[in-house]
Amino acid sequence: MSRYRTPEPTPEERFRPDDGCPIFSPRLEAHLVAVSRGETPERGTFCGHCYTPIARDTSACPHCGESTSARPPVDVVPTPIAAALRVQRSTEGRWVTGFAYLGLLIAMFLPLTLVLGIPAVKDNLILGTAVYAPLLLIGMRVFPAILGGYFGDRKGFAAARTKTRAAWERWLAERDAPAV
Ligand SMILES: [Zn+2]
Repeated sequence: MSRYRTPEPTPEERFRPDDGCPIFSPRLEAHLVAVSRGETPERGTFCGHCYTPIARDTSACPHCGESTSARPPVDVVPTPIAAALRVQRSTEGRWVTGFAYLGLLIAMFLPLTLVLGIPAVKDNLILGTAVYAPLLLIGMRVFPAILGGYFGDRKGFAAARTKTRAAWERWLAERDAPAV
């Protein structure tokens, strides 16, 4: 089970929605994950709009297109943005894990109904076990992977994306509010 507990979608593989919300670029996600693991320093140079890591002499963000003269780069990713990524990743992880468990249940009960459905097999413990065991082993590899890796991944992404977009809207309202 342990391999379903910490699913880590790689930024490069994931579907990138074109919904007007610029977080998270793959580079920003990779940076924040590395920081959370203590593998890279928190400080650097980041786009002032979408916080994608950029080079110091960059004039326009390669991810969102924001010009560095219009909005100067920052040297650390704001806390609410880093927090939003943690929420996004844990939301995705829960969906993948939940669907993987569902897959395990299917893997257990599907061959059971088969064994119980054939009278000659049902009445013979050894024959029943001989039929059930290999089907169980195959099912435990196949169903959690399909349900967790496919359906859980897609459902989880959609659910997490909704949260991320809401967090981004809140952050924009806070960041870009006119100073009183
Ligand atoms: Zn940007």
